[in-house]
Amino acid sequence: MSTINLIAIDGPAASGKSTLAELIAKNLDYFFFDTGVMYRAVTLAALAQINDLDDETKVTEVANRIQIDVQAASKQDGRVMDILVDGKDVTWQIRTPEVDFNVSKVSAYAGVRKAMTEQQRRIGERGNMVMVGRDIGTVVFPDAKHKIYLEASPEERARRRFVEVQNRGESTTYEEILASIRKRDEVDSSRAVAPLKPADDAYVIDSDDKAIDIVLKEVLQILGKSVP
Ligand code: C5P
Repeated sequence: MSTINLIAIDGPAASGKSTLAELIAKNLDYFFFDTGVMYRAVTLAALAQINDLDDETKVTEVANRIQIDVQAASKQDGRVMDILVDGKDVTWQIRTPEVDFNVSKVSAYAGVRKAMTEQQRRIGERGNMVMVGRDIGTVVFPDAKHKIYLEASPEERARRRFVEVQNRGESTTYEEILASIRKRDEVDSSRAVAPLKPADDAYVIDSDDKAIDIVLKEVLQILGKSVP
């Protein structure tokens, strides 16, 4: 068993991983770290700095060059934390449909993954952390103490994301979100490096018919913690 006190939560886009991880972190007084923001930050920077995201070498250079920082939320506008790229606050810019559309391509590049994985390992070494992503239990921390794989149907995930997007006043349709989720699932699961899949020793939860507080109770029980 690992000495790193880390809870890995993996799963497809919009499966509720971050919400679950935040609640677990609050309950256990752990750090919460969402690795998706790093791939989103690289994508945003690549869109701004180069004109061809098909150019793997150039995108990898961007990933190696930029400084991504995560710090406590400086504003109360619904954010969980601030995401900075080269000192600039990009917390909401990394959530645009354009980034959603391109992020799977960028995160399939081996050089990008190498750079991000190294940073994630450094961050995770602190321990007492809930780390969220696609490959945390399989690649980044295969010896994590606990591994959860959270899934839900594409339709249910699109429905949940649609409610979020509407609450933010954006005008994307349910159909557009569903198409984007399906495309990301496909690219994330079929890439050569660190594809999305449950670790052999992950505890798999299907959250289609489960409210988040039920999922949280289930996970806290697995972790051997008292249930609130
Ligand atoms: O979790 P989120 O949807 O914000 O992640 C955005 C994208 O970043 C994913 O669709 C995936 O392509 C990539 N990602 C990844 N590995 C991770 C976290 C995210 O490839 N550990």
